[in-house]
Amino acid sequence: MRYIQRLPKPEVLEKNAAQWTADFLAVRTANPNKKRPDNSKYAHKEIKNYLAGMSSKKCFYCERPIVESEYEIDHFIEAVERPDLAFDWENLYLSCKNCNREKIPNTKLPNIETLNPCSNKHLHNEHLAFDDEQIRSRDGSQLFPFGR
Ligand SMILES: [Zn+2]
Repeated sequence: MRYIQRLPKPEVLEKNAAQWTADFLAVRTANPNKKRPDNSKYAHKEIKNYLAGMSSKKCFYCERPIVESEYEIDHFIEAVERPDLAFDWENLYLSCKNCNREKIPNTKLPNIETLNPCSNKHLHNEHLAFDDEQIRSRDGSQLFPFGR
């Protein structure tokens, strides 16, 4: 995982995020079983294109190249946990299927223990070392550089 500079919020979110969030929160209040937000909204084509542009069409977590038909949008903080962040630009990441759906097998790391790809560069250098093409956790780092 490398540091990724986040672009300004896409227009579709500028226009709609507040309303989409209010609608989703209202639906969840009326029906607590409705856990997931509508992916036709948070995975809008404009959002995918912005995220793909930021990461050179690579997964934010594992850095594998992704073809457009397989772009997935991950919530860094799960919408189930924080429905108010379901359409928050800072919480949306381009992810490959593997990282979005499987994460680390049999592991559920709390977000607080995960290094965010868009956190500041200083934090990345503090926790990760880049030796040629190898990326590793620095000795003593308590943050996982991947998944959650
Ligand atoms: Zn991945």
